[in-house]
Amino acid sequence: MPNYGVPPLALTRGEGCTVWDADGNAYLDLVGGIAVSSLGHAHPALVAAVTGQVAKIAHTSNLFVNEPEILLAERLLGLLGGDGRVFLANSGTEANEAALKIAIKYGKARGKTYFVATEDGFHGRSLGALSLTGKHAIREPFGPYALDVRFIPYGDAAALKDAVTEDCAAVFLEPTQGEAGVVPPPPGYLAAVREICTANGALYVGDEIQSAIGRTGAWFAFQHEDARPDVLTLAKGLGGGLPIGAVVAFGEHGETFAKGDHGSTFGGNPVAAAAALAVLDTLESDGLLANAAEVGALIADGVAAIDHPLLAGVRGRGLWQAIVLTSEASGAVQDAARAAGFLVNALRPDAVRIAPPLVLTAAQARSFLDALPAILDTAAQTQETAP
Ligand SMILES: *Cc1c(COP(=O)(O)O)cnc(C)c1O
Repeated sequence: MPNYGVPPLALTRGEGCTVWDADGNAYLDLVGGIAVSSLGHAHPALVAAVTGQVAKIAHTSNLFVNEPEILLAERLLGLLGGDGRVFLANSGTEANEAALKIAIKYGKARGKTYFVATEDGFHGRSLGALSLTGKHAIREPFGPYALDVRFIPYGDAAALKDAVTEDCAAVFLEPTQGEAGVVPPPPGYLAAVREICTANGALYVGDEIQSAIGRTGAWFAFQHEDARPDVLTLAKGLGGGLPIGAVVAFGEHGETFAKGDHGSTFGGNPVAAAAALAVLDTLESDGLLANAAEVGALIADGVAAIDHPLLAGVRGRGLWQAIVLTSEASGAVQDAARAAGFLVNALRPDAVRIAPPLVLTAAQARSFLDALPAILDTAAQTQETAP
């Protein structure tokens, strides 16, 4: 179907942060499959975990239990400080659907009638997740929606305070907005979200599908302000390229789903869970959170030091940065970067996303920084000659 347009490249293989197209051209991958390939491509730990598990048993369904899913749930709860329960799904959208059902059930039991989410926020493309998604262009064509969702500007604690009353069942937001353009909140915002939700008995659902698993230099982005949500959703980087999503609900919220309330045929798949365990183990053993923080800072500082008329600035944290442009030239920058051997993502008309594997080295980051001025020159020329 034409919903993705025509992709510019066919990728056939990868190794570390390098990918090759069908013509044999190599590229430095600074997109990581949209913040997914956390260990890079063909990492030996991921290959061993996946091939080892598929050779044992590839699928059990939830009629039976398998070891990797249990180990993964325990591992996630260990990283999160304990007391909660995990539901495993196959994507970010599915994780958010499960979180939304938890929030609906929570609200119904207490006579709470509406939800709050953020303008420009992104939670997925299914009808439940889309009803929480504030991006007008992808939301409006498929409305109206069945839930009462009220949208507030992201990062504005006063607006959140006004919007959340005792009738609010849950607040859904990203601890850093991803699809909106890698937008970190102002300092103190996440702590204020936590406080406002607690004061009104609203669930705080943190969508960390893009921001977690080391991306920002911490396991979870909420840890930068120590403001833990009641329900947390994960996906993207968790499986290192295998499809997986997870919902973690803390304390009593882990008991919201009773038997029969939710399910998934593939959720808890042992191959995906084994991949996720390999990702978590390798991030820890190879010090990749610190690498994300250091190499990310190197990229942010390096971009900030470039003086170019097309460059407005850089924002983000860790290996998750938006290069912000002075005009709507992100498509031209993406094309010029690809021609120079770098894959980046035109996230917004005026913003280019960098979300590489967390194994990116300082030398690889420098090679991109060295090439960036010429990439911007080419993009600026294309802009000028465009009709
Ligand atoms: C990517 C993303 C989703 C949707 O995840 P899928 O795996 O594409 O279904 C939801 N929320 C956030 C914050 C995302 O970045």
